Amino acid sequence: MHPAAAADPAAGAAVKADDRAHVFHSWSAQGLIDPLAIAGAEGSYFWDYDGNRYLDFSSQLVNTNIGHQHPKVVAAIQEQAAKLCTIAPGFAVDVRSEAARLIAERTPGDLDKIFFTNGGAEAVENAVRMARLHTGRAKVLSAYRSYHGATAAAINLTGDPRRWPSDTASAGVVHFWGPFLYRSAFHAENEQQECERALAHLEQTIAFEGPQSIAAIILETVPGTAGIMVPPAGYLAGVREICDRHGIVFILDEVMAGFGRTGHWFAADHFGVTPDLLTFAKGVNSGYVPLGGVAISAEIAATFETRPYPGGLTYSGHPLACASAVATINAMAEERIVENAAEIGERVIGPALREIAERHPSVGEVRGLGVFWALDLVKNKETREPLVPYNASGAANAPMAEFAAACKRGGLWPFVNMNRTHVVPACTVTEAEAKEGLAALDQALTAADAHS
Ligand code: PMP
Repeated sequence: MHPAAAADPAAGAAVKADDRAHVFHSWSAQGLIDPLAIAGAEGSYFWDYDGNRYLDFSSQLVNTNIGHQHPKVVAAIQEQAAKLCTIAPGFAVDVRSEAARLIAERTPGDLDKIFFTNGGAEAVENAVRMARLHTGRAKVLSAYRSYHGATAAAINLTGDPRRWPSDTASAGVVHFWGPFLYRSAFHAENEQQECERALAHLEQTIAFEGPQSIAAIILETVPGTAGIMVPPAGYLAGVREICDRHGIVFILDEVMAGFGRTGHWFAADHFGVTPDLLTFAKGVNSGYVPLGGVAISAEIAATFETRPYPGGLTYSGHPLACASAVATINAMAEERIVENAAEIGERVIGPALREIAERHPSVGEVRGLGVFWALDLVKNKETREPLVPYNASGAANAPMAEFAAACKRGGLWPFVNMNRTHVVPACTVTEAEAKEGLAALDQALTAADAHS
């Protein structure tokens, strides 16, 4: 146990009492939740007030790529706080300039201008606005199996059921099917067929919507919350070609997949594809201070060279956030953290998950790369029927709830969504930590097997 994980249940009870009385939680029925009170965190672990320590296989919504409390990032925030806490976005400031340069140096192609936001949804909102202004067109195409954020436009773009209660249905969004061989919308039998049919489906959607009405296509490079579905070779290059042919802006959303998560700085690097706009957040500074942004191509930036960009945020490029981004990116480079994510994923996590899948009747498919993996849990490996129905809650979701509880009893904090568990530790995860987590996962899967 970490020395800081000493139990103090009375302090924990006080935190929970104030939380219960005054904190209104995201995505929750307020009376039906019981949030765990957290006392501290370090590296790949966090702990509660009862002395329980958890290996964080969720990275706090796939966010803490550099782990918890990295000393260089904490020090950089402290130093910046002592120097300059805040300044309006209209000024040029050393940390903002440096953060933008470090990001631009790593983004693919000519994505050399950075518009800073406070998180992922705002990045998506602004990318869409830029695409609409650049093209003079209104519609945006996005994938059903996607998540792009919870603000007004971002939730409309989102394909998963989190959209349903907020969908205004008039925001100019058209959804289409992306490639996903395991649950193919195209009855494809192999990756190549899936790729060809998904591209043909996209072409047809564009033809029937009218290419001249479409401002942008937005895709997660590797869709994250929807199930970590690595696209088949050629798909993203195919979308790039379709966009070029129709004058459509190609937006890649790398809020979750960017900054080392997939074993490259950006997931787009795996596919040799450069979008026109790339959205980022989370891993840019591991969320130590809220930060996101849009990396903008030279052509789209030129649109706003003499014409004002009609958008802004009071906290855009906040000095504390930018200082933490500079320290994060420098530490990731100095400590070879992206390389670690690639190496641990390829040598330890991927092989272990495939071996686990063979032994457990509940594991239908293993997908991923870097430290970005999903187990698709099923009732039946032959029929691929999901372990719980789509968007299940309450009693219908019990098998997944039992599985998550078994992980936690084993000291592992999982990322669970619908019928999947995602294995998304920090990019800094060591081999020993990965093995510890995989052993706990292996054990907990017996709870899922009981329903298969
Ligand atoms: N895009 C993607 C791909 C995401 O995964 C997320 C968050 N999970 C968002 C956008 C929204 O980011 P935020 O919650 O910071 O607004």
